[in-house]
Amino acid sequence: MDPFHLHAGTAHCEELPLRVIAQEVGTPVYVYSTAAMRSNVRALQSALAGLDDPLIAYAVKANPNTAVLATLAAEGLGADIVSGGEYQRARAGGFPADKIVMSGVGKTTAEMALALNGGLFQFNLESLPEAEALSQVAVELGKTAPVAFRVNPDVAAGSHAKISTGGAHNKFGIPVAEAPAAFDRLKELPGLEIKGVAVHIGSQLTSLQPLEAAFARLGELIEALRSRGHSITTADLGGGLGVSYDPSIEAPPSAAEYAAMVSRVTRGWRVRLVFEPGRLIVGNAGVLLTEVIRVKNGPSHPFVVIDAAMNDLLRPTLYDAWHGIEAVVPRGQTMRADVVGPVCETGDCFAQARTIDRVEAGDLMMIRTVGAYAATMGSTYNSRPLTPEVLVDGDRWAVVRERQSIESMMAAEKIPQWVRR
Ligand SMILES: *Cc1c(COP(=O)(O)O)cnc(C)c1O
Repeated sequence: MDPFHLHAGTAHCEELPLRVIAQEVGTPVYVYSTAAMRSNVRALQSALAGLDDPLIAYAVKANPNTAVLATLAAEGLGADIVSGGEYQRARAGGFPADKIVMSGVGKTTAEMALALNGGLFQFNLESLPEAEALSQVAVELGKTAPVAFRVNPDVAAGSHAKISTGGAHNKFGIPVAEAPAAFDRLKELPGLEIKGVAVHIGSQLTSLQPLEAAFARLGELIEALRSRGHSITTADLGGGLGVSYDPSIEAPPSAAEYAAMVSRVTRGWRVRLVFEPGRLIVGNAGVLLTEVIRVKNGPSHPFVVIDAAMNDLLRPTLYDAWHGIEAVVPRGQTMRADVVGPVCETGDCFAQARTIDRVEAGDLMMIRTVGAYAATMGSTYNSRPLTPEVLVDGDRWAVVRERQSIESMMAAEKIPQWVRR
């Protein structure tokens, strides 16, 4: 069931009326459903249950709120992280060190040391210079770093250019053709233990075909590496499976369809498979609750000005993303409008010439499918405080990130003595 549904004419998250949160916390505010996250995790876990001990490492960057992380850690997931900050969040959220995968094209030596000292499942390396740097850090610390190489399979992911990562021109991984020589070099470096190979070709993928092409290349690479004497025990298939944003467009493949393809393509690999889903786990588990500030006349249709803006939710501005927008208490009538935020940028626009529920100043609305890559991309542009976040579980709810105050926003800033007067 849709965790964000109408009950007695008013939108609820699970058993809680959204207006209660708006009254108590104010708007804009992100609201997350525990039930939605759990059901996404369990659907994936059961789809992958036929594999031999897969590691599902949630991509923390999708939604790094520590309450969200704790919810997912309790479901038995691991964590895929891309910075020292995410490593610390993952540990604070309760993920065991031996289920943490460290990805990222620019890991610093300080971040490498943090993860090596705290422990992790493996580093996914993206270049030979990075491997050399990690080798040095590991030797200095007297540790052995478990490593996989991320390869760039040169496939077109078919998603938005800003979230496609597996083309030869993208910055990620090393070309498959260079991988055998890179593994030979890896073997010579002290302090490293070769575990396996990794790919991640992009995000919000709506077709299995590019994934399958990438995995097939990875399978060939595993064979080639073994025939050169390398021991390959893990294969990380990345994340990327999309979620449904616009219900009028065909939904992306399900977790079950994805898992069926994976088990067919990876048959006989004799590795522990690793998965790094982000959006799939949290994307549909959140809404951004917002109030209409006013409705302003436009040349052909009105502008609905809401109190959420591109600093709260960047996806429409950054990726031209489509998000459903609905009234919390629909009147049963519609209007055609542009839905815009108050920020002084033309790009601060959530929908153009969209038919939406008819709304007036003071009405509450919700923007859907904002559990992933939303609150975490928030900024304080226009000196707007970071948006609070609320976690709902049944009829229980808690503020899991407070609304930032203007004072705390300015607290890190200092006026130098010579400027003071
Ligand atoms: C972003 C990212 C993911 C998660 O992508 P989703 O599309 O959210 O599943 C997984 N692995 C890596 C390396 C990433 O950069």
